[in-house]
Amino acid sequence: MSVRNVLVVGAGIAGSTLAYWLARYGIDTTVVERAADQRSSGSPVDVRGPALPVVEQMNLLAPLREAATLARAHHREQQRWPDRLDPLPIQC
Ligand SMILES: Cc1cc2nc3c(=O)[nH]c(=O)nc-3n(C[C@H](O)[C@H](O)[C@H](O)COP(=O)(O)OP(=O)(O)OC[C@H]3O[C@@H](n4cnc5c(N)ncnc54)[C@H](O)[C@@H]3O)c2cc1C
Repeated sequence: MSVRNVLVVGAGIAGSTLAYWLARYGIDTTVVERAADQRSSGSPVDVRGPALPVVEQMNLLAPLREAATLARAHHREQQRWPDRLDPLPIQC
């Protein structure tokens, strides 16, 4: 049985990313979100490590870098482990 339609509940980073890939593979995808608007503030999301190649494949690296908030704590962390981290924090 092949999947033709998918309903994704929630338009956070997980739901949006899943919807993107489903649509890219030709699956009819609908996203529902209970929040009426974008929140004016939210929990940070770090895009780094295994997330980076995924973002690159989505051609979103440049826009994400432009939107990055670069929270101060991340800078401190990067100074402690400069080789381990490639932070790209965005606030969503
Ligand atoms: C205080 C705090 C600090 C954090 N700091 C970091 C950090 O520094 N770095 C980092 O990488 N991560 C951080 N995180 C974690 C990060 O924010 C989460 O891992 C990420 O946002 C989870 O994304 P998600 O899409 O799974 O869920 P969410 O972002 O929670 O999205 C779920 C969405 O689904 C919607 N929804 C839920 N139920 C329904 C429903 N029944 N019908 C329709 N819509 C629905 C919600 O409204 C929401 O928009 C932090 C989280 C918190 C709370």
